[in-house]
Amino acid sequence: MTLDVQHRTQTEASVLAGLDYYRELEAKQQPEWPDPDAVREAVTELQSQPPLVFAGEVDQLRERLAQAARGEAFLLQGGDCAETFAGATADQIKDRVKTLLQMAVVLTYGASMPVVKLGRMAGQFAKPRSSTTETRGDVTLPAYRGDIVNGYDFTPESRRADPSRLVRGYHTSASTLNLIRAFTQGGFADLRQVHAWNKGFVSNPANQRYEALAEEIDRAVRFMIACGADFSALKTTEFYVSHESLLLDYERPMTRIDSRTGNAYNTSSHFLWIGERTREIDGAHVDFLSRVRNPIGVKLGPTATTDDALRLIDKLDPEREPGRLTFITRMGASKIRDVLPGLLQGVKDSGATPLWVTDPMHGNGITTPNGYKTRRFDDVMNELKGFFEAHREVGTYPGGIHVELTGDDVTECLGGSENIDEETLATRYESLCDPRLNHMQSLELAFQVAEELKAHPYR
Ligand code: PEP
Ligand code: MN
Repeated sequence: MTLDVQHRTQTEASVLAGLDYYRELEAKQQPEWPDPDAVREAVTELQSQPPLVFAGEVDQLRERLAQAARGEAFLLQGGDCAETFAGATADQIKDRVKTLLQMAVVLTYGASMPVVKLGRMAGQFAKPRSSTTETRGDVTLPAYRGDIVNGYDFTPESRRADPSRLVRGYHTSASTLNLIRAFTQGGFADLRQVHAWNKGFVSNPANQRYEALAEEIDRAVRFMIACGADFSALKTTEFYVSHESLLLDYERPMTRIDSRTGNAYNTSSHFLWIGERTREIDGAHVDFLSRVRNPIGVKLGPTATTDDALRLIDKLDPEREPGRLTFITRMGASKIRDVLPGLLQGVKDSGATPLWVTDPMHGNGITTPNGYKTRRFDDVMNELKGFFEAHREVGTYPGGIHVELTGDDVTECLGGSENIDEETLATRYESLCDPRLNHMQSLELAFQVAEELKAHPYR
């Protein structure tokens, strides 16, 4: 063995040992698998499968996020709270991609800045739960933890954690990502298709407004073509995927050593985030993601202190690498104006420059008297406004939004210009987890954020 190769092998061995260190730490929100042999089998199967994303793409996203952190781009991250295996159909994936492309156009036009498109897709299958069990009447069963762990049906068989779902999660992610790549690289995302993305949705005030914008963009594009501009760059669009890095029996086998650099990459997704319930500084999730090269996010709720944020920065981004770390704040509309400015100021004073993104959904959950878990569109908008205000106050960049949405005409969030009320929630409530903005509410939100960006340009 040459010295070079020997050195490389030793380094690899130590990187691999580091990746497994999380096993020594407390890992919250993991399922109890009843059959450990079957887990080992599934993990071995995952290890033998090809990567879903490549190191070069992941590095490119890190650069895009660095631009957003510097106020030169804006991040749009969105998708289901919980993807399901049954929901990975061509139509549903296409409608979600179209919705995100439409929102991105609205935002690009409003902000006059590139918009980084990041789906909460192709792997968003594992969910943290507030209780490990669920009781209905006099029956108590394990809580539903997402399709990659167990089934939603309330029966003992379905709720049993089943490791073969890890492998199915991988394959469903692969087929979802394949379709996303086909849509965004195969001509469908061409800016000259800006009208086509609006087709197939039931006509409503938001997509009528979109149609007018598309007409304007179309005219501008035709004008530029007539002037001889080269539009080959518009044919495809960069589109990345992300999910919560929660289920370590999935994330670890999908993490591989890049042969070019010897670094570890989680190859299940371009971007991964740590949820509000698993972000303990000494916990397994933070340690595990501290060792991969992917850009990573951490959710910060209203109890997060400046000290928490600074410790997370030291652990996850010791080199202060641009684009490496995103803080996704989810404070709630009634708290954001009190808590966010102090947090931004504390981090700014430390000299760190993470990307700051708002998740205006998770701090605004309510349950209606008729039993629906929902959110008010107005509360979501109010938190968004509070996010922009806080950044203006402190002089930091409000770098993007993280929303739960679907392209379908569901009735899960209250309000919006369709005025969905408590009775209407029952007509089409399909989410197995948190309520999502429907197609129209998503577009409306994009228009309002675009106006905010237009009214207060960064420079
Ligand atoms: C989520 O994004 O679906 C989620 C559970 O968020 P949080 O960790 O912020 O509660
Ligand atoms: Mn959610």
